Amino acid sequence: MNSGTDAHVYQLLLIDDDEVDVITFQRAIKKADLANQVDICYNASEALIQLGTKTYDCIFLDYLLPGTDGLQLLRKLRDMNINTPVAVMTSQGDEKIAVEMIKNGAFDYFTKNEINPDKLSKVVFSAVRLWDAERQRQIAEKQILENNSRLNAILESTRNLIYAFDKNFNLISFNSSFKENIEHLLRLSGFVKADINLADIPLNKERKEDLIAHIERCLLGEQFTILQQLSFSNIRDAETPWYETTFNPIVNDLGEVDGVAIYSQDVTEKKKIEQDLLKAKNEAIAAAQTKSEFLSNMSHEIRTPMNAIIGLTELLLEEEFEAPILENVKSIKYSADNLLVIINDILDFSKIEAGKVTFENIDFDIRHRMAELRKTFEHRTKEKGINFSITIEEAVPEIIKGDPFRLNQILFNLVGNAIKFTSEGQISVDVTIGSKKDDKINLKIAVADSGIGIPLSQQSKIFESFTQANTDTTRKYGGTGLGLAITKNLVQLQNGVISISSEVGKGTTFTVEIPYTLGEIKNIEENNKKVTTLADLSSLNILLVEDNIMNQFVAKQFFKKWKNELIIANHGAEAITILAAREDIDLVLMDLQMPEMSGFEAAAVIRGTNTVVKNPNIPIIALSADAFLETRRKVIEAGMNDYVTKPFKPEELYSKIVKYTQKISLLE
Ligand code: ADP
Repeated sequence: MNSGTDAHVYQLLLIDDDEVDVITFQRAIKKADLANQVDICYNASEALIQLGTKTYDCIFLDYLLPGTDGLQLLRKLRDMNINTPVAVMTSQGDEKIAVEMIKNGAFDYFTKNEINPDKLSKVVFSAVRLWDAERQRQIAEKQILENNSRLNAILESTRNLIYAFDKNFNLISFNSSFKENIEHLLRLSGFVKADINLADIPLNKERKEDLIAHIERCLLGEQFTILQQLSFSNIRDAETPWYETTFNPIVNDLGEVDGVAIYSQDVTEKKKIEQDLLKAKNEAIAAAQTKSEFLSNMSHEIRTPMNAIIGLTELLLEEEFEAPILENVKSIKYSADNLLVIINDILDFSKIEAGKVTFENIDFDIRHRMAELRKTFEHRTKEKGINFSITIEEAVPEIIKGDPFRLNQILFNLVGNAIKFTSEGQISVDVTIGSKKDDKINLKIAVADSGIGIPLSQQSKIFESFTQANTDTTRKYGGTGLGLAITKNLVQLQNGVISISSEVGKGTTFTVEIPYTLGEIKNIEENNKKVTTLADLSSLNILLVEDNIMNQFVAKQFFKKWKNELIIANHGAEAITILAAREDIDLVLMDLQMPEMSGFEAAAVIRGTNTVVKNPNIPIIALSADAFLETRRKVIEAGMNDYVTKPFKPEELYSKIVKYTQKISLLE
C-alpha cells in the first residue's frame, strides 16, 4: 500500500524499558517499508514530557513499565486529550491485559516475538488510517456543532414558538420562546409551579385531546395550519392569546413520518385589529341602516298627508272654478306633485340603500309606455319651446316582460333632467334593440338633449347620491342630486347598464340598456279588462278602519266615484264593535298603526277562536304606507288576506276588493 518513495516520514514513539526489545524494534523498523523516525522513551514520565513537545503518527507501548503499567499511562494520555493511536506490545500469554488495553482506547496489540518489519509497517499504516478517520470524524463533529449552534441562533431569534414531538407524543425539542410562552400561559391559567417540566406539557389535561388529535393528523403526513386561542384552563376570553399554528410532518431518511415540527405564531394583535375593524364595519352598517330607516320613516310620514293633499286637489280640479282660483288649485297640485317626487326619491333611495327594492315581472306594451311618456312631458317641452321626439325601432317587439313601473321611473328621471337642463333645441328618446337571443332582448334607450352638457370631470360623479355637476345647480335648477343615483341603481339592479356622453354647451346623451324577455299580448288584454271594470262597488258594504281623518276623507272621496259609501271605524276596537253587531259587512280595509287597537291586534281578535264578530272569515285587506316585505309577512301571519300600499293605486285596490268579495265578476 505504501512505498519507499513516500515523502512522508512517519513519526513513531516507542515506550519500552527493555534494552533488548528496543534494539529488536529499531532493527525491524529500519527494514520496514516506510520512511520513519523513531523516538524512544524508557518510562512513563519521559513519555509524557516527550508527547508534550511533539505529535506522533503512532505510539508503541510496552505494557510493563517501571513504576506504572501501560494501562495507567494510556488512561492518562486520553485524559490529557492526546488521541494518537496506541499499539500495545505484550509478552506472550498476556491477552487478557491486551483486551483491557483495547477497551481503554488502544487500537491494536501484538506480542513482542511478533516484532518484525512487516508487522510493524502494517501496524503503522493501520494506525495512520485510523488516525485519519478519527480526524475526519472530529472535523465533521465540529461542523455539526457549528451548524447546530447556527440553527439554534435562528430558532432563538424568533418570537414565534417552535417545537417538535416524536411519534410517541414526547416533546423532543423547543426554542426558548416556546418555553417562555408556555410558562406564561401556565401562569395565566393558574398553574403556579416554580419549575415546569416541559415534558409534561403535551399531556396537560385540557390541551391533551386537541394537541394529540392534531399531532396524530400530522403524523399521517398532512401539513396544516390552525387558528386557536391557547389556554391551559377552560377559560377563553378576549385576553386569551390567539395563535396561528402550523403542523409539519418530520420525515426520516426512509421517507417515514417519525415526528411533528410545530410552528406557532402569536396573532393576538392581528386578531384584535381584525375584530376592531369588524366592529367598526358593523357599526358603520348599523349607522347606515339607522340613517336609511330614518329617511324611510320620515318620507313615509310626509307622504301620508301629501297624498291627502294631492288626492283632494285632484278632486277639486274636477269641480268648476273661475279662472284665478283654478290657477291656484293647479299650482297647489303642481307643487304637491313636485314635493311628492322628492319624497319618493328619498324613500326609493333609502330602500335601495337598505337592499329592499323589489321588481315586478309582468307583460307590458312598450309603445304604450312611450306614448304615456310623451303625454307626460309634451306639455313642458312645448312650454319651453323645445322639440320633443320619440322613435321606436320597428324590430322592437310589441310586448315585453319586466318591470314597466321602474322603466317609467328611469325614463321620467332622464327626460325630466333633459328638459330641466335644456333651454332650446331638441330632446329625443330612441328605443332600439341592443341585442337579441331566443326570448331575451336587450332594450336600448337613448335620451339625448341639446342642453348645457356636463363637463367630463363631473360625468362619473353625477351618478353618486346627492351630487350635482355644479354647485350652483340647485340654485338655478333645483333638485336633490338623487335622481341619477336612483336611476343608475334601478338599471343595475335589473342587470342593465347606463352610460353617458356629453359635451359642455352641446348637450348630453344618457343611454340605458336593460334586459327583458319577450311577453305575450293575451296577458295585457287581461290587464286592460280589469281597468275597464273600474266602475261600480255599490253593492258592497266595506268597512274602512283608519284613524287618520284626512285619510278617511280621501278614501271616502275615491269610493264615492265607485258609488260606494264607506263605513268608517276609527281604530281596531271600534271595528270589532261594528263587526260584532253587523252581519252584512263584505270586506275590511285595515290600517295597521292605530291608537287603542292596531290592525294586527284587530285581525287577531277577528280570527280568534272565541271571536265576537259575526263573520270570522271576513276578507281583510291591510292598508299601510310602508312597503317592506317584512310588514307584508307580518300581515299574512296575523291572518289578513292581502296587502295594499298607501297611497293605494285605485286599480290595484279595486281589483283586490273584487278578488276577495267575488260579488262582481272581473269579466264584463
Ligand atoms: P338632480 O335632482 O339634482 O337633477 P340628478 O341625480 O338627477 O339630480 O342629477 C345630478 C346632476 O347631474 C344634476 O344636478 C346636473 O348637474 C347633472 N345632469 C343630469 N342630467 C343632466 C342633463 N341632461 N344635462 C346636464 N346636466 C345634467
